[in-house]
Amino acid sequence: MERATDQAAGNLEGARPVLGRDDPLQKVVRMAEVYGCARLGVMGGTFDPVHVGHLACAEMARDACGLDEVQFMVAPRPWMKGGRDIVDVEARIDMCRLAVEGNPAFSVSTLEAGREGKTYTSDTLRELRAMLPDEVQLFFIIGADTLSTLPGWHEQEQLARLATFVCVARPGREDSAALLAAARAKGFDVEWVDAPLLDISSSDVRRRVREGDTVRYLVPDAVRDYIERHGIYGGGERG
Ligand code: ATP
Ligand code: MG
Repeated sequence: MERATDQAAGNLEGARPVLGRDDPLQKVVRMAEVYGCARLGVMGGTFDPVHVGHLACAEMARDACGLDEVQFMVAPRPWMKGGRDIVDVEARIDMCRLAVEGNPAFSVSTLEAGREGKTYTSDTLRELRAMLPDEVQLFFIIGADTLSTLPGWHEQEQLARLATFVCVARPGREDSAALLAAARAKGFDVEWVDAPLLDISSSDVRRRVREGDTVRYLVPDAVRDYIERHGIYGGGERG
C-alpha cells in the first residue's frame, strides 16, 4: 500500500487551499494532526439514485481498509453515461445526504458538483490532495465493474500515484482476478475487498420506479420517500 507521503508527490500544485470550518474533511485533517496519519475514502459515482449496494460497498471498504471517513463524491454529468438523461446533481446530492444521515463516518462531497465540462477523477483527487495535509492518505473506492475500466482512465499514471484504489466485489464480474492483475500491471495500487454480492444497481432501481415496482429495502427509506415526493424516475404517486 502506498504511503501518504508518496501520494503527496502527485500534488504538483503546491499551494494549499483553505478548508471551510464546517467542511466534513476537517475530521481527517484533525486526525492527521493528532495521530500523524488519517485515511480518507472517496467513492465516486452518479448515484442516480444512491442505493444500499453503494452504502454496503462503502462500509465494507471502510472496515477492510480502516478508513476514518468515506465521502460520496457525486459526479455532475458523468462522461461515461452517454446520452441517458440523469437527474439533477442537486437532487442526487440530496438523496446521498439522506442516505448517509446518522453515520458519522460517511459524508457527501460537492467538490465535483460545480465543475463544468468533463469530470475526471484525477482532477478530483489532485484537488483533494492539495486541500489535505500530506499525512492524510487517499483511498478511491470502486465496485468490481468499474475495475475493468480503470486502466483506461484519464491521466492514468498520475491517477495511480494519487490514491490507493479499493475494489469491492460486485455481481457479474467473475473475471475480477484478471482485472486486478491488469490494473496492478498498469501501476495501480489496488486493494481487493471480498464482500457479500449485492445485485442492486441504480439502473434497476430506476426501472422499478418507472414500472411501479417496489424499491423498499433497495434504497434507504428516506431516499424512497424523496423519490416519491419529487416524482422522479417516472414513478407516479404510490399508496
Ligand atoms: P448505474 O446502474 O446507473 O450504472 P450503479 O448502481 O452502477 O448505477 P454508479 O453510481 O454507477 O451506480 O456506481 C458508483 C460506484 O459504486 C461504482 O464504482 C460501482 O462499481 C459501485 N457500485 C454500485 N453498485 C454496487 C454494488 N451493488 N456492489 C458493489 N459496488 C457497487
Ligand atoms: Mg454503474
